[in-house]
Amino acid sequence: MPARLPKQPATAVKRRPPVPVELVKERLDSIYGPIEWRPRMIAIDELIFTVLTQNTSDLNAERAYDSLRKQLPTWGQVIEAETTKVADAIRHGGLANQKSIRIQQILVEILKRLGHFELEFLAGWPLEQARNWFTTLPGVGPKTAAVVMAFSLKMPAFPVDTHIHRVSKRLGLIAEKTTADQAHPLMEEMIPEDDRYEMHVLLITHGRQICKARIAQCARCPLSDECPASCTE
Ligand code: SF4
Repeated sequence: MPARLPKQPATAVKRRPPVPVELVKERLDSIYGPIEWRPRMIAIDELIFTVLTQNTSDLNAERAYDSLRKQLPTWGQVIEAETTKVADAIRHGGLANQKSIRIQQILVEILKRLGHFELEFLAGWPLEQARNWFTTLPGVGPKTAAVVMAFSLKMPAFPVDTHIHRVSKRLGLIAEKTTADQAHPLMEEMIPEDDRYEMHVLLITHGRQICKARIAQCARCPLSDECPASCTE
């Protein structure tokens, strides 16, 4: 019987620790900042627009949204219309059949709860209460809720989109297996309220311009000397 070879010691793989959030903000701010909050759409419009952005590009969602507003200018008309008409109006945005049903369900539920579509009163609510209000609408998840709260209501929510999810994992801010939905509360916990909007814009811009999905351009990145996923060494 051949002698057993002694076990090889496991090679220790040195991985850098997560980059501190303050350093991420400081370095990204130096190339993309300063970032100021700018109002976008009113909350009900932002909500429906965000539903249209699901599983498609912003450009396609914008075309679908513009077409919907042109063909059915009021949210009451969207409720009253045949679902197929709504689907035809948003065809550019993909998944038109599912999204048309979802949009009508959301609008019906809001009308049932409030009797109108003005959601601005939610800005005065505690963050978790407002989040619960949104995420109990049909098909509205943490990301859609956070987008409306952050961009329309100026609340300290932190939306995690595909770019932020990727960049945050590479920087070690969240674990590799953390899903985007799981990342919302984790990111909100680690980022001070007053910095959340700015950090959202900084990370999304970084994901679009340098820390891209297919090839991260680490040689251009101001965090490459600290990032655990840097490919510059
Ligand atoms: S060093 Fe590379 S992987 Fe890390 S954040 Fe910068 S671009 Fe992304």
